[in-house]
Amino acid sequence: MTKRAQIGLFLLLIAAAAVIPVSGQSQPARITAIRAGRLIDPETGTAAANQIILVEGEKITGVGSNLAIPAGASVIDLSRLTVMPGLVDAHTHMAITYKEQPENNYYYLTFVMESTPLRAIQAASNGIQMLSSGFTVVRDVGNNALYADTALRQAIEQGWLPGPTVIPSGPIIGATGGQFWPTPEMYKYHNMMFPEYIDANSPDEIVRAIRENMLFGARTIKLCVDCKPWGYSVDDIKLAIREAAKGGCKVEGHVQTPEGAQRAIDAGIYIIAHGNALTPEHHRQMAEKGIFLAGTDTPFTNYRGADAAFKQTVAKLKDAWEKKVPLTFSTDFDYWNERMKDQKTGEWLTRGDLSIAFIETWKAAGIPAADILRAMTINGYKAADVINERGPIKAGMYADLIAVSGDPLSNIDALRNVQFVMKNGMVFKKDGVMTPESFFHPGPVKTPSGRWTR
Ligand SMILES: [Zn+2]
Repeated sequence: MTKRAQIGLFLLLIAAAAVIPVSGQSQPARITAIRAGRLIDPETGTAAANQIILVEGEKITGVGSNLAIPAGASVIDLSRLTVMPGLVDAHTHMAITYKEQPENNYYYLTFVMESTPLRAIQAASNGIQMLSSGFTVVRDVGNNALYADTALRQAIEQGWLPGPTVIPSGPIIGATGGQFWPTPEMYKYHNMMFPEYIDANSPDEIVRAIRENMLFGARTIKLCVDCKPWGYSVDDIKLAIREAAKGGCKVEGHVQTPEGAQRAIDAGIYIIAHGNALTPEHHRQMAEKGIFLAGTDTPFTNYRGADAAFKQTVAKLKDAWEKKVPLTFSTDFDYWNERMKDQKTGEWLTRGDLSIAFIETWKAAGIPAADILRAMTINGYKAADVINERGPIKAGMYADLIAVSGDPLSNIDALRNVQFVMKNGMVFKKDGVMTPESFFHPGPVKTPSGRWTR
């Protein structure tokens, strides 16, 4: 090569370096313009016609009816659909599926028979099923073996696979025994069921358990408030709230007795899970204090539940709504049986279909569609503590949105047929068909990729 050619090549390389991004720097963000026939704002319960949503990379950059579509932008035409923010399941269990066979619905056996890696892979599949049904955020609150939930969060954040934003709790923290009645062999040697629960019986142990969960990637803390007669006191719960706050986590309390509910309320807990033990007076106090309810309001269907229990669940949910408790949509989903098929088509219902079916309870309670939508979105983002970055469709937020035929503001069942899903600005589902290609790649592309990404 002549000297002149060498200089020419050098200049060419410099010029190339100016346009080719250096490893670690992001490429110029792709711009997508979405034409929305109708765009729902669940905060106000209203819809605007013919809106354009501009998405640059992972985030929304503009929303309006008269936005200019930049040259070179790819256009997604949803002008025949209703666009809205993604949905939130505020209490679910992605890494457990207990079954009639072979465990006889006895979920102790699931813990013994299924390893953490197997359960993490189940969780990955469940995440894809949930995303396909429009759930872009899930709070995954325990019963996930040895941190399958935090691994799922990391895997989705790293971009290994599509899935909702996961807010994991790590193992549920409870006083001796947790939610179970383990045998002495199991309990004393911690070699079978442990660590489905972390036993924490003193202030020191509570602090240690919370720190461990946050160390391993928890984004929320879950306490068994009253799973045993020796459950947590108001002071114990207050201590947990203070300790969790150091790692940016809010505390959810599993509550199953009226006394436990009162202690959780008195301590100022962030979320109460399960509505069964709550009285009208608890609802009044929760509304006053702004405590979220994840009622886990199971519908009565051909595959699950009983009529009497359903009526009680409906009555409690209705009272909570009338008292203006901040309600979230929550399922507690963690099971499967042979009857979980669409009665018309005979096809299997996915974890997402089964989760959406919980709207039956809300309809039976006479709650208006706009309020159900608010519970499934805005209140869910608040309960998941992501509302400053995800949820509302406005500039600066992550582009997580869905589209359905029909109008969920007048008919909430429109949510049963999600046609389009975008997560972090990437299209996951279009025309009712999953198109996850853009989520797959041969290596992590996002940093930091660790457990601590805040
Ligand atoms: Zn649960």
